[in-house]
Amino acid sequence: MSGVADVAERHLPDPAWSVARPFWEGCRAGELRIPRCDRCGRWVWYPAPLCPDCGGEHHVWTATAGRATLFTWVTVRRAFLPGYRAPYVTALVALAEDPRVRLATFLRDIPTRGLRAGMPVELLFETVSEHLTLPAFRCVG
Ligand SMILES: [Zn+2]
Repeated sequence: MSGVADVAERHLPDPAWSVARPFWEGCRAGELRIPRCDRCGRWVWYPAPLCPDCGGEHHVWTATAGRATLFTWVTVRRAFLPGYRAPYVTALVALAEDPRVRLATFLRDIPTRGLRAGMPVELLFETVSEHLTLPAFRCVG
C-alpha cells in the first residue's frame, strides 16, 4: 500500500537513467557537460543519436564554461507541487558555447530591478543528495 511517504517531496530527475547519466555525473563533479559531435564539433542538446548538422553518431560529453544568457523565464508565485517554495524562477538559458543549446533550469539571485532577456547568468550547483546535484544559474548582470 502506498501512502504519503511514498510520494516524492519534490519531482526530481533520476541520475541513473542511461540517456542522461553522464550529465548528472558531470554535475556531481562540478562540470556542466553537454554532448558534442566529434566529427563537426556541434553541441547536440538534447542528447540525440545523430548530430543535426552532419549526422555524426559519436558525441562526447564535454564540459562547458558555465556561462550563458537568459533566454526566457517564468516566475512561479504559487507552488503547484509539494517541495517547492514559491516564489521561484524557472528559465531557459542559452549557453555561451552555442546559444542553440538552451537548458531548462532554476534561476537564482534575481536582481531587484527584474529580469531581462539576454542578461548574463552563470552556473552554480545545488546538492540534493549524494546521488544528485542539480545545475542552476545565477544572475550576474
Ligand atoms: Zn556533427
